[in-house]
Amino acid sequence: MSKTLTGTCFCRAVRYGVADEFRYAMYCHCSNCRRTTGSAFKPFAGIEREKFAVTQGADKLMVYGDDKANDTHCRVCGSLLFSVVRDGAFVHVTMGTLLDDLSIRPSRHIFVGSKAPWFTITDDLPQHQEFPS
Ligand SMILES: [Zn+2]
Ligand SMILES: [Zn+2]
Repeated sequence: MSKTLTGTCFCRAVRYGVADEFRYAMYCHCSNCRRTTGSAFKPFAGIEREKFAVTQGADKLMVYGDDKANDTHCRVCGSLLFSVVRDGAFVHVTMGTLLDDLSIRPSRHIFVGSKAPWFTITDDLPQHQEFPS
């Protein structure tokens, strides 16, 4: 059985647990991810929704979107904790909110077509204009 990783928001009101069984991890440079994080890009890791659970502060979530496609924040401090994607089947966990290290590492840059002009990618990972097929 794999390890369970813990994550939390800036104010610690919300905590989640997730299996260390992520299917993929990437850096997303799309404008939505830049705005939701206020950063140059969003490092995220994807996993089946049933392997992820909010363990504390479920009443303190701010969900932007609907049950099958959303960004979920802590409504106290605003941290973006995860997104529900792929018609509700997967969650994309924001790697910056994890307290524990995860086994996987980001393997590619996506949506580099909308990358911030002031940010330069300096690693050799593959770059995709949009989401890789
Ligand atoms: Zn918070
Ligand atoms: Zn994005």
